[in-house]
Amino acid sequence: MNEAYVYVAPDNPAIVKNNDLCTSCGHCFAVCSEDNGVAGRDRVACINCGQCAAACPEQAITPRNDIAKVRAEINDPQKIVVFSTSPSVRVGLDDAFGQLTGDYVEGKMVSALRAIGGDYVLDVTASADLTIMEEGTELINRVLHGAGPLPQFTSCCPAWVKFVETFHPDLKDHLSSAKSPIGMQGPIIKTYFAAKHGLDPQNIVHVAVTPCTAKKFEITRPELNVAGRSIGRPDLPDTDYVITTKELAKWLIEDGIDYEGLEDSDFDSILGKGTGAGVIFGNTGGVMEAALRAAYTILEGKPANNALLDYEPVRGLTGVKCSTVTVAGKELRVAVVYGTHNAEKLMESDQFNTFHFIEVMTCPGGCISGAGQPQGSEETGLVIPPSNTLRKKRIASLYREDERMTLRNSVDNPEIQELYKEFLGKPCDDMSKVLLHTHYYAR
Ligand code: SF4
Repeated sequence: MNEAYVYVAPDNPAIVKNNDLCTSCGHCFAVCSEDNGVAGRDRVACINCGQCAAACPEQAITPRNDIAKVRAEINDPQKIVVFSTSPSVRVGLDDAFGQLTGDYVEGKMVSALRAIGGDYVLDVTASADLTIMEEGTELINRVLHGAGPLPQFTSCCPAWVKFVETFHPDLKDHLSSAKSPIGMQGPIIKTYFAAKHGLDPQNIVHVAVTPCTAKKFEITRPELNVAGRSIGRPDLPDTDYVITTKELAKWLIEDGIDYEGLEDSDFDSILGKGTGAGVIFGNTGGVMEAALRAAYTILEGKPANNALLDYEPVRGLTGVKCSTVTVAGKELRVAVVYGTHNAEKLMESDQFNTFHFIEVMTCPGGCISGAGQPQGSEETGLVIPPSNTLRKKRIASLYREDERMTLRNSVDNPEIQELYKEFLGKPCDDMSKVLLHTHYYAR
């Protein structure tokens, strides 16, 4: 076993390696072993987070490029291409074109996706609100009715989920059964959205645009082909492709699209509008804060108070943050963690069983620093590894947008309220269980 660099299998869905460029400097191995506790433990295990690629000064490891496959779908007149954008893309895209500012460029991003040929552009922040409705209800059921083991882990980060399945399968039932926001967006697009727009789901090509390389793995999980199974097409994935923010930027440059000249435009509907709670999903601590706002309103029957609208104890660029919140007379112990190695230390500590809810994201600072996020432009050159200064700017951008928004609690999203009323019923009820929840395996 060569311990100077990480092994990348040729069929890795998330990253590729060009061995000719590798100088065995060891940066990839250091990140993977120290931050994630993976390299050095198992030669072939990979959680697909791509942080090795973000740290590679030679660009020997890079996120897999799926632009050609999506282009082919766009050029097929039979196909309806639906793009769904994760919260962090809008604070990463601009960094590929000018200075590294983490500016919030939602309207420009939507126009960019129309310019490359998207038929619809939707927002994953809407499904982040849906995730909170499901995951929050599941947490309430576990805490108040013993419906599952505690602490409950978040399950939005596919690299973290794979880490638990690989190295701690005995704890897999602690993972929320709620799918990730993209895991929910796919089946809702190929059922409810398709019906609303009179589209044949078999012609819809759903492309998630994300900061995340691990999502390229997540969409290959066969248990996520739920919409297809309902129409006798178990081979039909809920989400067909994932392209990263970096790929989107590269695509715009390749096509000679005038990025600076793009006018802002709005998302399509439905699934085109999230609340502030959905927007902050990209930040470490964002899922926790969103869940606390919703749990407070569900249990107390009133709007989340100001303290929970800007809940500082779960914010900021610290690897492990712990807090206790009182909701409906019940003390909830929560923890927010980034880096799977940090998570593992918490899982192995005496404190572990004192928590009710633990949010884990693999990437430093959360998805805003996923391996698919731009690391520089022609003007700045590549910044490798990514800097904490930029991470903080992107984090602040998402919180600023949340603060600016009128609706900041997932329970108040009118599109999601309508979705439950017309189609799903109640959170964690029969239809939601089929479309929006999943299960995990020991790997
Ligand atoms: Fe992907 Fe976000 Fe997890 Fe990083 S933290 S692996 S970007 S889901």
